[in-house]
Amino acid sequence: MKIDVLTLFPAMFAGPLDESIIQRARTEGALELKVINLRDYTHDRHKTVDDRPFGGGPGMLLKPEPIFEAVESLRREKTRVILLSPAGRKFNQAIARELAQQEHLLLICGSYEGFDERIREHLADDELSIGDYVLTNGALPAMVIIDTVTRLLPGVLGDDESSREESFSQELLEYPHYTRPSEFRGMKVPEVLMSGNHAEIAKWRAEQAKLRTKERRPDLLK
Ligand code: SAM
Repeated sequence: MKIDVLTLFPAMFAGPLDESIIQRARTEGALELKVINLRDYTHDRHKTVDDRPFGGGPGMLLKPEPIFEAVESLRREKTRVILLSPAGRKFNQAIARELAQQEHLLLICGSYEGFDERIREHLADDELSIGDYVLTNGALPAMVIIDTVTRLLPGVLGDDESSREESFSQELLEYPHYTRPSEFRGMKVPEVLMSGNHAEIAKWRAEQAKLRTKERRPDLLK
């Protein structure tokens, strides 16, 4: 999969996407990631990307010209153009699964007060929020989406089972896990997990996942 990110802060992406599973996905070619500076699409001496809102009010807005030019040059036939915005539909594991099927994502990070509305109306195929709070700019939301989608790409996790059984993969939270020692300060691991009976273990895990979801996230069971 190819992901292009349009941002005013490319340096923010160094680090989180250069480590661990995401780095391996990049090295092995499962993910081709390009972080592009929006200012590369300006033509004035000051590389201007923002301007004051018509009608007044605080802050600055991202201007349409550089973003239109960038999208028109980066978009291919099968590109999904996604605007990051607190007003978008709320990102979740189901949307991540849907995005993992795409060939090419183009993520557009906002800054300041956000975007000129014409960008939203005429360029974006989708608009995503990572939650009901406001961040300074779209770099962190873009990284959250890239990380979540990349680990769903075929072959990226060593064992594809691990993404199939994770929280939200079947609209449930994951069951509890234990490792050695089997008893620690008087706290014991449930017997069934050490029984070697795979059918009983699977049954226990399914029950625990349902119980945990019912207690903590009943909304997922609806
Ligand atoms: N004035 C905007 C509003 O009230 O909706 C907030 C702008 S925010 C300071 C700047 C940029 O950060 C946004 O354009 C968006 O790209 C990004 N952003 C902030 N919070 C976000 C969230 N929860 N989900 C996705 N993007 C977010």
